[in-house]
Amino acid sequence: MEKKEKIIGIMGGTFDPIHNGHLLTAECAAYQYNLDEVIFVPSGNPPHKVEKRITDAEDRYLMCMLAIMSNPKFRVSRMEIDRVGLSYTIDTVREFKSLYPEAKIYFITGSDAILEIFTWKDPEELLQEAEFIAATRPGYCLSELGQGIYDSHLNSIHPLEIPGLAISSTDIRERIIQGRPIKYQLPETVEMYIKKHNLYK
Ligand code: ATP
Ligand code: MG
Repeated sequence: MEKKEKIIGIMGGTFDPIHNGHLLTAECAAYQYNLDEVIFVPSGNPPHKVEKRITDAEDRYLMCMLAIMSNPKFRVSRMEIDRVGLSYTIDTVREFKSLYPEAKIYFITGSDAILEIFTWKDPEELLQEAEFIAATRPGYCLSELGQGIYDSHLNSIHPLEIPGLAISSTDIRERIIQGRPIKYQLPETVEMYIKKHNLYK
């Protein structure tokens, strides 16, 4: 019998903390693109966040592990947090391609991230090497994507309409500082981890 090509989605992010917007995006992408698995890859040292204070990588990794527990298709990779130096998506995509040479690989993002893709390292190569799934996100307009992008690049980007969740890690961190609720914006296990380790205070 012919072996079915494995289809993998990679979901990169700072995940500081991981929330239901990330999980919903991954789930919708998995359904729509028939993904066998979605691998969450928390970033080690994201180049666009060097100025910002980000939570210890081990905490972000463990929160991802807690968040994905109930979903058999979801996994978490330590690839970027174990890598020395800055985290570049191009390196991650290439490493996954060499780990799974037989698989088809999609990189999953929200529309804010894909709109910034030309500020990433080697964007042309990146768009040649991977297919992108760009999920709609409240506040960011995917139709701007066509501007300034060649058709050949646009072919590598697949828009994905998902139910909008206006949740962001930045907002969750601010809510915690201000003592406002975060319940139902992220998995309860993650909320408990944040409380137990007194994060974002
Ligand atoms: P921060 O506010 O710290 O930037 P964030 O909520 O944007 O956090 P990231 O870790 O930066 O989360 O995002 C990881 C990926 O998930 C990005 O591709 C981003 O576009 C996507 N994403 C995050 N939140 C949502 C959401 N609510 N809907 C759709 N996509 C999202
Ligand atoms: Mg973000």
